[in-house]
Formats: sequence, structure tokens, C-alpha cells
Amino acid sequence: MAKDIKPELRQRNATSSNNYSSSVTNDSKTNFNENKLAQVGKTWGRARDVSFADILPPFFIMLLCPYLVIYFWTSCTHYDCSITTPILLLSEKGFTIDTIADFIFENFPKPTVEGFLLYFGWLFFQGFLYSILPGKIGFGQTTPAGHTLPYIVNGTLAWIVTHGLFVALSLGLNLFPASIIHDNWGGLLIAANVQGYLLSFFSYWKAHFYPTFADDRKFSGSWIYDIFWGIEFNPRFGKYFDFKLFFNGRPGIVAWTLINFSFAAAQYNNIGYVTNSMILLNWLHFLYVIDFFINEDWYLRTIDIAHDHFGFYLSWGDCVWLPFMYTLQSHYLVRNPIDLSWEYFSLVFFIGHFGYYVFRATNWQKDVVRRTNGDCLIWGKKAKVIRTKFETSDGKIHESLLLLSGFWGVSRHFNYVGDLLISLAMCLTCGFAHLLPYFYVIYMTILLVARINRDHHRCLGKYGKYWEEYCRAVPYKLIPFVF
Ligand code: NDP
Repeated sequence: MAKDIKPELRQRNATSSNNYSSSVTNDSKTNFNENKLAQVGKTWGRARDVSFADILPPFFIMLLCPYLVIYFWTSCTHYDCSITTPILLLSEKGFTIDTIADFIFENFPKPTVEGFLLYFGWLFFQGFLYSILPGKIGFGQTTPAGHTLPYIVNGTLAWIVTHGLFVALSLGLNLFPASIIHDNWGGLLIAANVQGYLLSFFSYWKAHFYPTFADDRKFSGSWIYDIFWGIEFNPRFGKYFDFKLFFNGRPGIVAWTLINFSFAAAQYNNIGYVTNSMILLNWLHFLYVIDFFINEDWYLRTIDIAHDHFGFYLSWGDCVWLPFMYTLQSHYLVRNPIDLSWEYFSLVFFIGHFGYYVFRATNWQKDVVRRTNGDCLIWGKKAKVIRTKFETSDGKIHESLLLLSGFWGVSRHFNYVGDLLISLAMCLTCGFAHLLPYFYVIYMTILLVARINRDHHRCLGKYGKYWEEYCRAVPYKLIPFVF
């Protein structure tokens, strides 16, 4: 069972110097309590009381998603990224236990010593960089229990060191081929899955017996739901080794561009040059990834860090789903090299950069309005805001604000529109011969629409009547007049 909160680990409002932390106004508490309309449960945050219907999706995702990743790997590695060919071939032989077993044995990736060494060597190297590289201290949002946590923001440096070393050791000193990731992709997939599952179960166990911030845990009463969505909010080793920031940023996002680079090298090995589609894809992914690290401080206040607990969704997702599914397009372009016409190239380049502009500008508006406490210009005019109050489970009342103008007045998640345009451009680099490279934009649409609903539930619980006021002022969730 859960242990009591360790007093030394309770860092309630430990960082009052934080620019981003909300100001606490105890004197306004009575007034606020009288006025608030919807505070879901004792604290807001992840759902706690879950029904059978809430448990089914996590159950099936944990059961099936690893096979989906393996199936996509198989279709790319053995069938030129055709999603249907493996199934059609199998159906010709008949779906018996023997034919399915033969198919798995012949096609699925196998564990390899190289795969395990590379994966765990990479993971420990990233852990080492995360722990020793210097960086400024950033702060997350105040949690439902009232903690405002510090983070070491050193991702850009880790990205530069990792990529610099990889290029120097492979292309410079020829210690290993630059295509090494591509060449060991199957073995790496198995090793990453092992790591993803181990981390999920470790996090579940740690949450029960050695929680970092016990008062920020959420138990749903269902172990399936808890393994998937996580119990601990901010599991850490020591003061700064934060699971969420590390696993999402390093084995996840640093790997993204490195994998692409290695796949571009594999394409070069195969056909003697790198296609312009592969270059454009590498560029768009690079833009997205480097933006993430340059704005890593901003990431501390996004839903991943500010709302999601650390379970299978983030741990397996960061270790397996992100590196293997987000890079499907570069795997595709190795198997199906495409030279784009310059007209098509320019169109995709434009869509990607326009999407990036919307994505960055929208996220920037939210960040700047919070940083300046609303004292800033948005689209040349003084920012319009709703001043809000919310309560944490320690009973303190905090103040925050919701931006009403700029992109946040167009729809409640216009940043997602930018993200979807970038995602579409990434997929369009692969032409139209197969569906598989479009998996990313389809998945992102599902992910972001689901996020909109989760975020609505969270913000309603956190801000109550203020959120309702925002929803009345900005009725559309994503695309004006559509949704
Ligand atoms: P947002 O950055 O939109 O954050 C939502 C939070 O912002 C809310 O919970 C609320 O939190 C605050 N907020 C909501 N409305 C307002 C407002 N009007 N004014 C000020 N604050 C407001 O969502 P995400 O964290 O999901 O996404 C961040 C970015 O990351 C997006 O651009 C998204 O596209 C991208 N992303 C990419 C993914 C990928 O896999 N590639 C996955 C998910 C996201 P509070 O008030 O508590 O601060």
C-alpha cells in the first residue's frame, strides 16, 4: 500500500522566485470558494474515479500497440512498407496457428546482442548527459498538490553533443557506419520494448513504495488504468533527474533526428545519393526537434509535464512509440526512394513552414502572456485575458490567466492546427504510393483531438467558472466553424 508522504520531499511552493509560478493569495480563499462552480473532486488533474469503459482503451492499447509497431516494422523491412501485403500473403496461406507462427518466426524482429548493447549504451549515455551537462533551471506549472518543481534545461546541449559525436565517430573516424541505427533497427526495437515495459512496471512499483511526491499521486482503483496512465505525477531520482523530461526528451526526441540521419545514410548506401524527399523530411523533423529543445523551458508547462502522470503511456510511448512510429517516413524513404519535383517540394516546404509558424506563434503567445502577467501586446494590441483563480489540494488559492486574444481567441487549441499542418507536410514528403507514411498525421489527429477532451476536463476542474467563461468566449476547440 501507499506510504505516507515523506516530509522532506514535500516542496510546497518551494520556489517562490519562479517567474512562472502562480501567486498565492490566501486572503481571497473564502471569496473564491464561494464563487467557484466546478472543482472536480478534492483536487483537479487526472481522472481518479474510472468506470469499466475507461479501463478498456488502456487495456487494448497496452496489449495491441507493441504488435502494431512490430507489424509496421515488418511491413517496411520485408514488404516495402505495404501495410496490406503481409496480411494478404498470410490470408492466402490461411489463418491457422501454424501459418501465423511461421509468419511471426520468418518476419518479426529478433533480439540481438548488438541491439541490446546499442540501446542500453545509448540510454545510459543520455542519462549521463542529462545528469552532467550544465543548463539553466526552469520551472513547471504548480501541480495539483501545490509543488512548483525545478528542472535542469540542458536538452539543446545534449542534442548538440549527441549529434556531434555521432557524426564525428561515424563519418569522421569511421568507427561505425552512419547507418548503424538503420542496420540494427529490428534488434533495437526489441530492446526498446523491453526497456519500455520494464520502465512501466518499475514506475508502478516505485509509485507505491518510493514515491517522490506522494501527495501528487492519483490512484484510480484499477491497476490496469494506473499502469497505463501512471500514478506518480513527477517521479524523480534525486532532486533533478525527472523521468518525464528525460524519457520524453532524450531516448525519445534526441533519437528522432539521429534515427533520420542514420536512415538517410542507409539510403545513400543503397542508391548512391540522398533524395530531396529525404532531405526535406530530415529538415522538417529537425526544425520540430530543435524547436523543442530551444524552447525546452516552455515544454515544462505543456500537458505532458503539467497534467499527465508517468505510466505506460509516457514510458513505453517515449521509448518505443515515439522513436519507431514518428520516424516511419524515413524508414519508408529508404525502402521507396522518391525524387520530388521542385514544384511539389516547394509546396510541401511551404505547408511545413506555415504550420511551424502557426505552431510556434500560438505557443509563444500563451507563454508570453503568462510570463508578463498579461502586460504584453498580442497582434499589436494589449492582450485580452480572463484572470482566474484555482485551488491546490493544500488549500491554497493561486492566480493565473487565460488568454482571450490572438490565436487563443480563434480557437481553444489553434497550436494543434499548426502541429497538424507540420505533420501533414512530413507525410507528404513520401508521395502517395502507400498509406503507411500517413500514419503519423492520422495518429496526431486522433491524439490531439483526444487531448482536447482531456484538457477540457482538466481545465474545467482547475478553473471552473473561469474556464466556462473562456469556452463561451471562444466556442471552437480546434478549427473555427468546424470543430
Ligand atoms: P497546450 O500547450 O495547448 O496546453 C494546454 C494548457 O494550456 C491547458 O491545460 C491550460 O493549462 C493552458 N491553457 C489553455 N487555454 C489557455 C489560454 N487561453 N491561455 C493560457 N493558457 C491556456 O497543449 P499541449 O501541452 O498538449 O501541447 C503543447 C504543444 O505540443 C502543442 O503545440 C502541441 O501541438 C504539441 N504536441 C506535440 C505532440 C507530438 O507528439 N508531436 C504531442 C502533444 C503535443 P494551465 O492553465 O494549467 O497552464
